[in-house]
Amino acid sequence: MLFAASVDAVCGSRMVRHYRGRLHTTDVIVAEVRHRATNPTNKPGVQEAAEEAVRMFIDGAAVAIDELGPGDVWMFESVLQQLRQLEAAQADGPASPQVRAKHGGEASAIVCCLREMDSGARVVFATNDGGASRVAHSRQVHTRHFGHLLNELVCAATYRNEEAFALFERANRITGVPAVARPQGEQDLSCQAAADGCTACVG
Ligand SMILES: [Zn+2]
Repeated sequence: MLFAASVDAVCGSRMVRHYRGRLHTTDVIVAEVRHRATNPTNKPGVQEAAEEAVRMFIDGAAVAIDELGPGDVWMFESVLQQLRQLEAAQADGPASPQVRAKHGGEASAIVCCLREMDSGARVVFATNDGGASRVAHSRQVHTRHFGHLLNELVCAATYRNEEAFALFERANRITGVPAVARPQGEQDLSCQAAADGCTACVG
């Protein structure tokens, strides 16, 4: 999600303004983003988005960085296992070494959401990853992807819906939302408050 919001510097700064004081990430995700920012990948645009995410969200202190404690280890392992099993099941075979090394960031975020919910906070897990969303839902954690967040900015009159959809398409090339969950056009990112109630406005 930090990568998607960092595809465009203006978008990132508008997200920071809109969600000020409400953005959280984890130390595991911060380490992953910093690694991406300093290591070239085959996928165009990823390193640049990671550099922007470090500059704007992490070094800019726009996001609080939560850490897992010793009491979270059991839950972290449990969520991690669930994420890996889901991916292995979708790949229809035993988990590859790459799969086994993955998902630490998502697991840490889900555990931090659960911890906040336990203390009564209202929490939304922002992720574009379909597997992470499914695992989060199975544990009653609400999720939104980048398109949902852009829709909230449309509702707040920060973007017109056609601008938001153009941004979504740009970000989707770097950090893709599963096809079934994607907005199909600018009409899917418009505010419905004037019609029959708007689910995006609720956030
Ligand atoms: Zn709305």
